[in-house]
Amino acid sequence: MKFEIITLFPELIEVYAKNGIIGRAVENKLFELEYVLLRDYSEDKHKKVDDYPYGGGPGMLLRPEPMFRALDAIKKHNSYIIYLSPKGSLFNQNKAKELSTKEHIILIPGHYEGIDQRIIDKYVDEEISVGDYVLTSGELPALLIVDAVGRLLKGVLGSEESSKEESHSQNLLEYPQYTRPESYRGLDVPEILLSGHHKNIEEWRLFKAIEITLKRRPDMIKDKGIIEKYKELAKKYK
Ligand code: SAM
Repeated sequence: MKFEIITLFPELIEVYAKNGIIGRAVENKLFELEYVLLRDYSEDKHKKVDDYPYGGGPGMLLRPEPMFRALDAIKKHNSYIIYLSPKGSLFNQNKAKELSTKEHIILIPGHYEGIDQRIIDKYVDEEISVGDYVLTSGELPALLIVDAVGRLLKGVLGSEESSKEESHSQNLLEYPQYTRPESYRGLDVPEILLSGHHKNIEEWRLFKAIEITLKRRPDMIKDKGIIEKYKELAKKYK
């Protein structure tokens, strides 16, 4: 799997490509994370890549020619091209899973007011938004996708279990977790986690996961059976 970002700000990508879990995965060649410089594909003598929108309005747009040339240079038969945009469909864990099956993902971050529509019409497979808010540019959204998708790839997380029980992986938010010490400033770790009773711990975690999901994200609970399960577990763990 290879991610390729067409960027104006390579330093932002480099920091991410060299640090943390993603940096280690790239170093260990579990996936590739590369970028191309949009300005390298500008034929303008000042390497200009933006211009005013036709019809007027505030701000600037990325021009089509540098982006067309960049895409022609890096696109392959198996490339999946994503434009990061607040107008796109909302990114979520299911989309991350779906993208983790692609071989080559090209990410196009926009800048200023966005990009010329012809780039989208000619090349883009999907427009993705990372949330209902507007950022100044698409580099952070692009890296967010690299992170969420990259960590699902084989070998990237230390233990295969790490991505199985966490929030959003099973339509539930994750249960609360605790580490040492057992007691700190009068705050104690729930006794059940110290009991060594694996079945009860598993049940308590499920109870807590349903409880927090009902409180914060009731929209995630589609299966009525989960509510029944919650009521049953509440008798024991509430
Ligand atoms: N004029 C655009 C609009 O109203 O939809 C907003 C442009 S925004 C200031 C500049 C760039 O940031 C966008 O082209 C996009 O690449 C990126 N961006 C901003 N918010 C985003 C979001 N929620 N999801 C994905 N990309 C976003």
